[in-house]
Amino acid sequence: MLNEQVAVVTGGSRGIGKEICKKLASLGAHVFVNYNSSASGAEETAAECKQLGGNADIIGFNVADSDAVSEAFETIKKQTGRIDILVNNAGISKDGLFVRIKDEDWAQTVQTNLSGAFYCARAAAKVMMKARSGKIVNISSITAEMGNPGQVPYISSKAGLFGMTKALAKELASRNINVNCITPGFIETEMTGNLPEETQIEYKKAIPLGRFGEAKEVAELVAFLSSPASAYITGQVIGINGGMYM
Ligand code: NAP
Repeated sequence: MLNEQVAVVTGGSRGIGKEICKKLASLGAHVFVNYNSSASGAEETAAECKQLGGNADIIGFNVADSDAVSEAFETIKKQTGRIDILVNNAGISKDGLFVRIKDEDWAQTVQTNLSGAFYCARAAAKVMMKARSGKIVNISSITAEMGNPGQVPYISSKAGLFGMTKALAKELASRNINVNCITPGFIETEMTGNLPEETQIEYKKAIPLGRFGEAKEVAELVAFLSSPASAYITGQVIGINGGMYM
């Protein structure tokens, strides 16, 4: 379904990003697995993509560094001549009581989660616009819809992706580029696995489907939004949360 297509997935070294890389590769895309510090994790993702019969390369860059992003996308363009799919998945969270949040924690979170998505989308859009085709998927969070105490920087940055998605979708629609945003709820990753068991039980009570989601399930939605099957969907914020937020 994605044969001959080139996909860039930021933060592909583990968790949700890793499953997205594997899914896109299994559908035939040539996947560029981005990482920041975990080169070995990215290598592992690429190896698993290849085991699934796909094609994958790793590419290290910090999404928060504008110059590094431009350089990386230039490298990909030179190597492949195209960029069809961008998944802005890389994200960090610096949580804490609002009044104690340091300037640098705020700045680093917004720089990574929001500016990082902006830098990557801008670099990818230049290539997609010339091709008059492309798919951009931004990974936000259910918390940006519901709010959550202790997560003001994270939630502010993730809510910023809603505006970016809609503005960009309108601007790029005439070039046949779809831009969408998804908001995962609680997904089983290292992050949620580290929550105390009682907290996990409490959270699951608030989820109509009664369980956390799987990274693979998020990857399925991203694959759909990256495929021709979703050609008439753009500018949307789509929840994947077991019914926790409706
Ligand atoms: P994770 O396990 O913490 O992985 C984060 C990924 O982002 C890693 O691959 C990491 O790469 C990369 N990354 C972080 N900073 C980066 C930077 N500056 N430049 C490039 N890559 C960077 O996260 P996850 O749980 O899979 O979540 C993935 C996305 O889904 C995030 O945007 C998160 O906010 C969102 N989300 C997750 C959940 C959940 O329940 N897990 C729920 C809602 C939304 P390195 O290891 O190489 O640094």
